[in-house]
Amino acid sequence: MSLSNDFYSKAKELIPGGVDSPVRAFGAVGGDPLFFQKAQGAYLTSVEGEDYLDFVMSWGPAVLGHAPQEVVDAVKKQAESAFSFGMSCPLEYDLAKLMTDTIDGLEMVRFVSSGTEATMSAIRLARGFTGKDQFIKFEGCYHGHSDGLLVKAGSGVSTFGTASSAGVPEGYTATTRTAIYNDLESVESILRDGETSAIILEPVAGNMGLVPGEKDFILGLRKLCDQYGALLIFDEVMCAFRVHEKTAAELYGVKPDLFCFGKVIGGGLPVGAFGGRKDVMEKLAPLGPVYQAGTLSGNPLAMAAGIKNLEVFLRDKVWEKTNDLGKSLNDKVQKLIAGRSDVCFTQLGSMFTLFFKETLPKNMDEVGDCDFDRFGRFFQFCLKNKILLPPSQYEANFLSCAHTDKDFDHYVSTLEQFLKEDQ
Ligand SMILES: *Cc1c(COP(=O)(O)O)cnc(C)c1O
Repeated sequence: MSLSNDFYSKAKELIPGGVDSPVRAFGAVGGDPLFFQKAQGAYLTSVEGEDYLDFVMSWGPAVLGHAPQEVVDAVKKQAESAFSFGMSCPLEYDLAKLMTDTIDGLEMVRFVSSGTEATMSAIRLARGFTGKDQFIKFEGCYHGHSDGLLVKAGSGVSTFGTASSAGVPEGYTATTRTAIYNDLESVESILRDGETSAIILEPVAGNMGLVPGEKDFILGLRKLCDQYGALLIFDEVMCAFRVHEKTAAELYGVKPDLFCFGKVIGGGLPVGAFGGRKDVMEKLAPLGPVYQAGTLSGNPLAMAAGIKNLEVFLRDKVWEKTNDLGKSLNDKVQKLIAGRSDVCFTQLGSMFTLFFKETLPKNMDEVGDCDFDRFGRFFQFCLKNKILLPPSQYEANFLSCAHTDKDFDHYVSTLEQFLKEDQ
């Protein structure tokens, strides 16, 4: 019995499934989950004291690597003066200023404590602004776990085979209309009745594995939104600062009406944000009629971490480093798997996915063709070789500027060995 097993057994007595977020239970890949005690650079240390090369990176926030000294210092310093005011503090303006100066089209922003809150609030705002109730989301895109958005969501929801979730009344999803990713026609047929308030999507999807939106698709959505009077919402909780120096919006040259952020902008502390057009954002309370609030929204510790994480990211041109590292990993893997029809690999900036199928998927249905059992075996093989992958084929992998070519060589040689042994 390992220490992790021990903690897992104890946790299961008091916490449903022993975890506070389902994917951590390793349900899709089998075996018992590991428990961890330390995160530094590109490595996690388990409670047993074993180091694992990490490609989860807290699901995205740790773009500088785990526990970068400057962020640690900023959080420590802030902790000396206040954890929380329940009132406003200057740090909220500082992060808002940094983000609005950096991101084209982000005229105003409001902070929340998670990506889930950001997308939930953005949808409410879009409805309040347009006066329409319906909205469109795409199969395989995950926007957090609020009721109306928990329809054909990727990630953990797909992993567990729940199309939706128990406990979500039909009425709550009656205004959610789902379309097919990278398929404009599936969108336009829904828009025609003019009842749609917004289209929300991950412009680069990361919750069905890494599946980038095709350029024509993203440009087409912008046009359709303008034509039918719907707002375009880019959920960049995962992809901002990972697929581009700034946003996916910049990558495609498309300006959404609203953005959602999280992950990187909190530097590992619980932060989300939504923002965009000023005329839309001014509909929010206390200025406008759309209510939205949070006890810990704009929390000073989280703001301090987010500001420093983003400052260092921009100052040190971390994007260039992570993008180069991503390309280097891609070169190594493509060389290894050239000519194979059982596996394919894709990378964009500091995100990547190895799919156990012949060709890269363009939508959720095509991701469904992967050999999920084989992914489970690969996950376990990596774990034995001290590499932690996201425990589902539906999750993207993340790297940071703390990863090295030596780390990638270890990953690639592990993959090579696996492909030899697992015929
Ligand atoms: C992670 C994620 C969310 C949800 O964020 P939480 O902080 O987990 O609530 C929403 N949208 C996307 C695209 C995400 O990747």
